[in-house]
Amino acid sequence: MFEAADVTPRMLMGPGPSDVSERVLAAMAKPTIGHLDPRFLEILNELRGMLRDVFQTKNDLTLAVSGTGSAGMEACVVNLIEPGESMLVCVNGVFGARMADVAERSGAVVTTVSRPWGEVFTADDIKDAIADKGPFKLVGIVHAETSTGAAQPIEPISRAVHEGGALLLVDAVTSLGGMEVAVDDWNIDACYSGTQKCLSCPPGLAPVTFSPAAADVIMQRKTKVRSWYLDMSMMMQYWGRERLYHHTAPINMVYGLHEALRIVLEEGLPARWQRHAAAHDTLKKGLESLGLSYLADPAHQLPMLNAVAAPEGVAEAEVRTALLEDYSIEIGGGLGDFKGKAWRIGLMGESATKRHVTALLEGFSALLAGT
Ligand SMILES: *Cc1c(COP(=O)(O)O)cnc(C)c1O
Repeated sequence: MFEAADVTPRMLMGPGPSDVSERVLAAMAKPTIGHLDPRFLEILNELRGMLRDVFQTKNDLTLAVSGTGSAGMEACVVNLIEPGESMLVCVNGVFGARMADVAERSGAVVTTVSRPWGEVFTADDIKDAIADKGPFKLVGIVHAETSTGAAQPIEPISRAVHEGGALLLVDAVTSLGGMEVAVDDWNIDACYSGTQKCLSCPPGLAPVTFSPAAADVIMQRKTKVRSWYLDMSMMMQYWGRERLYHHTAPINMVYGLHEALRIVLEEGLPARWQRHAAAHDTLKKGLESLGLSYLADPAHQLPMLNAVAAPEGVAEAEVRTALLEDYSIEIGGGLGDFKGKAWRIGLMGESATKRHVTALLEGFSALLAGT
């Protein structure tokens, strides 16, 4: 019989979850209290304040949706789109493709614009798509495409989207807490994230934020949101002043995220981004000296997700299994176009340290020499 007490820690260096600190785990083990307990409601208010700080926004409509990052994606799309409305989705990896699927299911008329995996979009790509096939109500794009390791610059895209009269939706699941995400300065209308990547909390909540313009769109909908569970106006009746029951908040998950955000803010955002960048630089030098090459455009590589090509003749899955069994290190394999051809090495949150990089490089060099 499985005993939770027997789980031995790994070094989590895949595309998420990342290592979780003892502080967060201890917070999650605290007594469960009621979701309408005044003490818990204070925790929710503090959580919203810290989420605003981490998203770098003043947006009132900022909270944590129950569910993982994908629930955040779905919440943003279903609340902003009414059936029959047009959405442009930028697809250069798995998560852009997922957003297009979610949009289609929510009743949007979806147009996609694509880039090869590992590349990023330019403002002209968006302007051309809007000129050819627009106008669109909403444009969705992924900031940190975890399937390829590419870092999408958001500001130029945001200008093109707003000049074209649309709202901008940004996936910051992997970027938030590991590189700059400036919701207000970059004029992002809706942004979602997840807990288990650079925030280093177990999976289970999805931070989201909506600009005043996006909040107006939600308040002025003519049709009901296509998802009862993810209806932001109903969720706000609980998270806002009314404190009406909608669904039971995942209490202990909220404790965990509250503690994880405190840790992020104690470290400071710029210091945290710098730590991720430094870990990436060291890892990249080490991997390149082992003869491995990165898949993403060299000018646009993510610090927290390092996608490298598995060399010809090397069984990528066997290397991952050996790393896990012999070194207790987890990394990810390729997804979609990169399946069987790539390793995805995460340096997220608590896992973005010199200790992790050194351990990974030791394991990799031994295993590659042996194959
Ligand atoms: C992980 C991830 C998601 C989905 O998050 P889940 O927590 O797995 O639901 C969405 N977008 C990106 C870019 C991701 O990396």
